[in-house]
Amino acid sequence: MIKSAAEIALMAQAGALLADVFHALGQLKLEGRSTMALNDLVERMIVDDLRARPASKGQYGFPYVLNASIDDVVCHGMPAAEDVLRSGQIVNLDITLEKNGYIADSSTTFLVGEVAYPARRLVSATYNAMWKGIAAVRPGARLGDVGHAIARYARAQGYSVVKEYCGHGIGRQMHEDPQVLHYGRPGTGLELEEGMVFTIEPMLNQGKAAIRSDPEQWPVYTRDGKLSAQFEHTVAVTRTGVRVLTLRPGETPQCAVG
Ligand code: MG
Repeated sequence: MIKSAAEIALMAQAGALLADVFHALGQLKLEGRSTMALNDLVERMIVDDLRARPASKGQYGFPYVLNASIDDVVCHGMPAAEDVLRSGQIVNLDITLEKNGYIADSSTTFLVGEVAYPARRLVSATYNAMWKGIAAVRPGARLGDVGHAIARYARAQGYSVVKEYCGHGIGRQMHEDPQVLHYGRPGTGLELEEGMVFTIEPMLNQGKAAIRSDPEQWPVYTRDGKLSAQFEHTVAVTRTGVRVLTLRPGETPQCAVG
């Protein structure tokens, strides 16, 4: 579970490339593009431009390089040619990238065109909730501190936190130990140590936390049909705090970094 400085340097390279992919997506006009077109564009970027491997493709039989989760889709939305993004929607794009044997994992919920205030508020609170979790990461802190920081903030904003999906250790494998829950009790759970690398990826719902899914299908929906948003960064525990390996160009950390 503990990575060496050399391994973390490689993971930071993968993370920086993935951050570039998100930066490029942020420059695009998403309205009018299908999620399949975005999948194909990201695949070309990762394979042809960055000479890296889209780590999600083939993992657990998943055939694409990204998940595209629109509006009430909590996670695991499938790219589709018929899903053409419309103004007013929110869409989470979740992408993994492997370079030199190490994987980085990140996601952003994008606003498509003109988005109404309630949806924008959810998206911005979800981003902040992720950062509340990241800011709790330091050697000696517990995973319960991280989860608590996220859930406390989410609840204070009037949102619920999805409990069925969590962050995860990451390295040569996409999913390693530990599991990083987005709720918890302070002072409980695994004690963090320098060299641990994991994702923090809270899903916040506008309504209730309950989800629904079909075991035969990938996408997971909110049960009440209300909106869900998600953000994800891959982070490393440093000697004194935290380093965000997938920080976007121009993104300001919402915490002390070191
Ligand atoms: Mg993840």
